[in-house]
Amino acid sequence: MSNTFDLIVIGGGSGGVAAARRAASYGAKVALIERDRLGGTCVIRGCVPKKLMMYAGRFSHELRDAAAFGWEIAQARFDLATWQEAKTREIDRLENVYRELLDSSKVTVIAGTARLLSAESVQVDQRVLSARNILIATGSSPGRDALPGLSLAMTSDDILNLKVLPKRLGVLGGGYIGLEFASILAGMGSQVSVFFRSDLPLRGFDRALRERAAANLKLQHIQVHPNSNLQGVQVDDSGSAILCDHRSHRFDAVLNATGRHPNSRGMGLEEAGVAIQENGAIVVDAYSRSSVPGVYAIGDVTNRKNLTPVAIAEGRAFADNLFNGERRHVDHASAATAVFTTPPLGSVGLSEQDAAVVGRLRIYEAEFRPMKAAFAGAATKTYMKVIVQDSTDKVLGIHMAGEDAPEIIQSLAVAYNMGATKSDFDRTIAVHPTAAEEFMLMRMPSRVVDVAQTGRA
Ligand code: NDP
Repeated sequence: MSNTFDLIVIGGGSGGVAAARRAASYGAKVALIERDRLGGTCVIRGCVPKKLMMYAGRFSHELRDAAAFGWEIAQARFDLATWQEAKTREIDRLENVYRELLDSSKVTVIAGTARLLSAESVQVDQRVLSARNILIATGSSPGRDALPGLSLAMTSDDILNLKVLPKRLGVLGGGYIGLEFASILAGMGSQVSVFFRSDLPLRGFDRALRERAAANLKLQHIQVHPNSNLQGVQVDDSGSAILCDHRSHRFDAVLNATGRHPNSRGMGLEEAGVAIQENGAIVVDAYSRSSVPGVYAIGDVTNRKNLTPVAIAEGRAFADNLFNGERRHVDHASAATAVFTTPPLGSVGLSEQDAAVVGRLRIYEAEFRPMKAAFAGAATKTYMKVIVQDSTDKVLGIHMAGEDAPEIIQSLAVAYNMGATKSDFDRTIAVHPTAAEEFMLMRMPSRVVDVAQTGRA
């Protein structure tokens, strides 16, 4: 059993696995170390089980709408235990797929906790491995220090393993995780309240999407508490409470969705000289090189754009550069993103606030009740926005809140990345009847915005 490799990857999540396999495809001898399950956060306790839970929650809306289409549904009841069993089987299956992919790529998988001994050696239990190149892809975990008492609250990991649905759920945080689980659990039947400190959730997104996200929470009968002066969480035998504005709001459970921290501490990185920011993020350049030659980092542990496909892209670029003589890096700004609320959101490119610095903008918007919702008498609306630089006609940002937004934005991201202009959208013939066709039918801008008007420089 050789302990010498060309590359040691620490972390078997989406990013680490992608990097290991790409490196091995170039003939590199690769070891991948994972202390938990292969697949990492996304597959085991993130995107995948979250989306399976989202589907479970969505059926409540589908069942309600079905009646308007003539279906008689006797009595629908959701059984969390049945979903849990099916989810566990599916995650086991996917973990096996990851293992098989690594095996067929000839990557040596080592179970255990890794510790850097130097820039070229790593200890896993009693075994010491060496390699000229080490890639840290250890991801992130839920932060528990933003407010007092958070360590006692549930995290997204716990929500995904719930045995009993909390009747009343308090959610702390208005980011991706807070909003997605608020929607999901409301769909499953919990009474949900969401607390966040700003006026709107989803900081960083286009303001119009943030407004729609807040309105859509309310349409699901979720209580929204913006501008909350959050002071902490209390958990005792009688339940849980969110403390804010000198009041205690009581729930059966509280979800801590106040952000995630990079997994970089206690693994010998600092001792080896690897520079780490105060928030735990490993400092890297555009090519994922750390401050120590031969040590690289990708994905959430670098806290750049914390999305699975970005980590995968960073991992592949890293391997292409190191083992195939390429010199490329990932353009984080071009990555589309989605929030799986009810209805979901999707975005690619700049928000209107951020685009304002580019100069005069034409803003195209559409808001309508989609055909299915209108027929079913549901109040849900779809909102679409295209931000165009007036001088060049170039599309700077595309945003959508509404059914299928993630799927639609994913396709439009190709056009965005090719530098599409508004005229390109205009001469694209619509597919009818769809919601997406509205993106092709925005003839007149709803507004023209100037830097001078917004006051931004
Ligand atoms: P986010 O950073 O998205 O949101 C954190 C929330 O907690 C924000 O509302 C933030 O408020 C609030 N918060 C943070 N600190 C405090 C504090 N001290 N007091 C009060 N409020 C606080 O983190 P998430 O945990 O939701 O998600 C982590 C990351 O995981 C995301 O950034 C995303 O990259 C990724 N993710 C992606 C998903 C997807 O692609 N669909 C799904 C889930 C996660 P404020 O905004 O005011 O700072």
